[in-house]
Amino acid sequence: MRKVQSLVIGAGPAGLAATIEIAKGGGEVVLIDENAKPGGQLFKQIHKFFGSKEHRAGIRGYDIGTQLLAETTSSGAEVLLDSPVYGVYPHNEGIMVSYLHREQEKALLAEKVILASGGMENTLSFPGSTLPGIMGAGCAQTMINVNRVLPGKKVIMVGSGNVGLIVSYQLMQAGADVLALIEGAPSIGGYGVHAGKIRRAGTPIKVSHTIKRALGENQVEAVEIVQVDDKFRPLAGTEEIIAADTVCIAVGLSPLTELAWLCGCEFTYIPLLGGHVPIHNENMETSVPGIYVAGDIAGVEEASTAMEEGRLAGIAVAQALGLYPPEEAVPLKEEVWNRLNTLRTGPFGQKRFDAKVELLQAAKGGN
Ligand SMILES: Cc1cc2nc3c(=O)[nH]c(=O)nc-3n(C[C@H](O)[C@H](O)[C@H](O)COP(=O)(O)OP(=O)(O)OC[C@H]3O[C@@H](n4cnc5c(N)ncnc54)[C@H](O)[C@@H]3O)c2cc1C
Repeated sequence: MRKVQSLVIGAGPAGLAATIEIAKGGGEVVLIDENAKPGGQLFKQIHKFFGSKEHRAGIRGYDIGTQLLAETTSSGAEVLLDSPVYGVYPHNEGIMVSYLHREQEKALLAEKVILASGGMENTLSFPGSTLPGIMGAGCAQTMINVNRVLPGKKVIMVGSGNVGLIVSYQLMQAGADVLALIEGAPSIGGYGVHAGKIRRAGTPIKVSHTIKRALGENQVEAVEIVQVDDKFRPLAGTEEIIAADTVCIAVGLSPLTELAWLCGCEFTYIPLLGGHVPIHNENMETSVPGIYVAGDIAGVEEASTAMEEGRLAGIAVAQALGLYPPEEAVPLKEEVWNRLNTLRTGPFGQKRFDAKVELLQAAKGGN
């Protein structure tokens, strides 16, 4: 079996950044992704990023993706696409990674592995929720921004976090009518700037509302929404039926952790980071020696933090492979930690900073 120094699973912002850092250190690195095109979520993010200049604020997600791809290509890293990974097993000669490529089963042995598989959308179950036309908001975002296909004309968005707000606006830009955005909580979850754009475009944001059922024969034709009290109990008599051909569900993201469970990583549960998260230390190394995590799998945040965590894991792997002596690696990692701390304690941060501190304490046995 072919042996490589390091292998990164997932070519989103975290995996690309990790790959670039390992290659910069002179390491051999193979980057694997299940998609035909690398970039993860970045290529569907057509809006400008927030933050500071060093976090590429003001640049659109797909432009950041293009820059990262160019750096990866020129770094000399090997990129394997159309290759879903289905197994990661610690082995006496390294870590075995099994994947499919053109319907053939393949495997590689790596000294170090970084899991950067990202996150997945949560869903909701209600009568009619399996009707065609009901989908995750991320699915609708891929359809309009990557494949240029409008999922429908009359949309109801469920969930007012940033994904729900941003995708609502992008659906309008693509030519759909977003008839209403409904939110179970009594207040909007995402940033005010995104909510303002939706309101100015004329879409009502109905807080303390949920979806009761979807109606339709072969596809969704209407939805029934209802007001809820402070314990999320439906209030009888407040039901409203709205004709719609598409329902987008944007009720949060969870880390995509199957590979980490499979290879025996220890987990902890932190709701603010999306649920079960693999415990990892300051180097992003999990409880399984040689297996690292970065990006949404290590706790759902955003693309800027995913890139920084990827850099951190990449530098740590290069150091563990003996490519950087500690006197070079330590200041490099400190720089990344400073940027991560800034991102996590900015106007929208602090709670995420506290959640990440809790995660690091779990790695030291403090949880
Ligand atoms: C629907 C959605 C919308 C979002 N919108 C925004 C936004 O507007 N702004 C923002 O800042 N952040 C947004 N985020 C969050 C942000 O995009 C993520 O935090 C960031 O992309 C995470 O980077 P990542 O590299 O960890 O994962 P991803 O970008 O998700 O990349 C993970 C990659 O790993 C691949 N992969 C997963 N499992 C396997 C496997 N078994 N084998 C091979 N490949 C695999 C995936 O196909 C994917 O290409 C969104 C996230 C989602 C899911």
